[in-house]
Amino acid sequence: MPERVYNFSPGPATLPYEVLQQAAKDIVNFQDSGIGLIEISHRSKQFMAVIEEAEQLLRELMDIPANYKVLFLQGGASSQFFMIPMNLLGDGKKATYLNTGVWSKKAIKEANQFGQIEIAYSSEEAKFNRVPAPGEYVVADDSEYLYFVSNNTIYGTQFPEMPKSEKMLIADMSSDILSRKLDVSKFGLIFAGAQKNLGPAGVTLVIIREDLLERTPKNVPTMLSYKTHADNGSMFNTPPTFSIYIVAQVLKWLKAQGGVDGMEKINREKAEMLYNAIDSTDYYRGHAEPGSRSMMNVSFNLPTADLEKKFIAEAAAVGLDGLKGHRSIGGCRASIYNAFPREGVVKLVEFMKEFQAKNPA
Ligand SMILES: *Cc1c(COP(=O)(O)O)cnc(C)c1O
Repeated sequence: MPERVYNFSPGPATLPYEVLQQAAKDIVNFQDSGIGLIEISHRSKQFMAVIEEAEQLLRELMDIPANYKVLFLQGGASSQFFMIPMNLLGDGKKATYLNTGVWSKKAIKEANQFGQIEIAYSSEEAKFNRVPAPGEYVVADDSEYLYFVSNNTIYGTQFPEMPKSEKMLIADMSSDILSRKLDVSKFGLIFAGAQKNLGPAGVTLVIIREDLLERTPKNVPTMLSYKTHADNGSMFNTPPTFSIYIVAQVLKWLKAQGGVDGMEKINREKAEMLYNAIDSTDYYRGHAEPGSRSMMNVSFNLPTADLEKKFIAEAAAVGLDGLKGHRSIGGCRASIYNAFPREGVVKLVEFMKEFQAKNPA
């Protein structure tokens, strides 16, 4: 087996090694049943225990109030862009969106099909290098909800504090769920594609306040109604069993790291190391404004595009993989989600110093 590299990929992203090792065994023979994990019925006792464990751990780790449902859906985070307004906005109803990147823009495009969408803030002209401060936008009185993306994966920006509003909050937390403390009760709905901070691709977590399940218009297809999945414990049809199993394992691992509090502490430390390295020289420049910096995705530039290319290639050659920035802003991006080990950040910081010394601007 090749030596494991440090994988800075933005998603699908690195997972805890012990989770992968356990999964490798369980895929072949799940709990000594003689049947592989991905072969068992989703309605078997064994799988029912897995999905229940995943939900219980999530409830415990995120302190999810009893009046919220936890759903494991398919269609990726991107399907939530339309499911949210389709279920929660009626004709002529209004919702407010904060435009902080590609993922919010896509959500806005879909929401426009279902209601009246107000964009209360946009950082698009500045290449989405920041998120708004609390006083920088107004949520209309007749808005049903305030929608935002808590962490902007591509640009490396993150709301340092969650927005506050009289209206219910709806957030895309695909790239920072379970990375820091959160008050779920302020939200109507939270969703996250699993492949960044929770597990493999194939499952999308939705946490929805129960009363909202009654809002869905009658003409919404059965599979696209939240109520269908809530009423059936995410088992209306075959759920993505393998992905849900991995999520359960990742949550167990996370609990062992000290839960969300423990994770947040480690995440802050990792991000600080990297931003300190960036700030200690003019050679590296962060893309995000300091007040909007993400703990999960650290985007930065080198003096020239050629140096960036060389940096990415030479880093990969020493086991620091996946540092290429998103094509929309170029440069480099280090994605350091929950499961990304601290030692990998230490190694990257060392590499940055060496590279600068060998390749003056
Ligand atoms: C990756 C990502 C998405 C898209 O997720 P899919 O599961 O591929 O649809 C949406 N929002 C954010 C914040 C993301 O990082």
